[in-house]
Amino acid sequence: MLKVELRSLEQEDLVLEEKDWAQALGIELTPELCRDPLEIYCELSKSGDLVSAKGWVRGKMLLLCDRCLKEFESRFKSFFEVHYRPQCGSSPSEEESLAEGDLEVVYFDGEMLDIADQIRQTVLLSVPMRALCRDDCKGLCGGCGRDLNMESCRCQEPPADPRWDALKNLKF
Ligand SMILES: [Zn+2]
Ligand SMILES: [Zn+2]
Repeated sequence: MLKVELRSLEQEDLVLEEKDWAQALGIELTPELCRDPLEIYCELSKSGDLVSAKGWVRGKMLLLCDRCLKEFESRFKSFFEVHYRPQCGSSPSEEESLAEGDLEVVYFDGEMLDIADQIRQTVLLSVPMRALCRDDCKGLCGGCGRDLNMESCRCQEPPADPRWDALKNLKF
């Protein structure tokens, strides 16, 4: 369960801990992003009418190497921090949003808080812009297209110039 009743936060802070498949947790993510059950840790506390949720998500995703174009699995652990504010009736005015400064504030119905969407966004933000199957991946040869991690380039060596052979045989 990634949901918390606001009421239960009135008395004390809460910690949510889950380890399950995204689907079972009600998080919509493609199978590539969830090769393992997601591990979620989240601390929730309330001060005034602002609820802060802070924690991390851990999992494993399938990525495509930028250099050799091979798929590989990559573990990630990503931190998040978000604030929730109960929304009473009308949507917040612009002034209110400005007053929150740098805080990322998400509005909810004021009764049940659901962090599933935050987890989903955190996983999506964990996808690297540039992925390498390993730091020293040699990639594919631009000429013959061989995977240089597995075999050597088969591009033909430039034909030898017979004019140099004579020089090679010279003894100094
Ligand atoms: Zn690679
Ligand atoms: Zn080659």
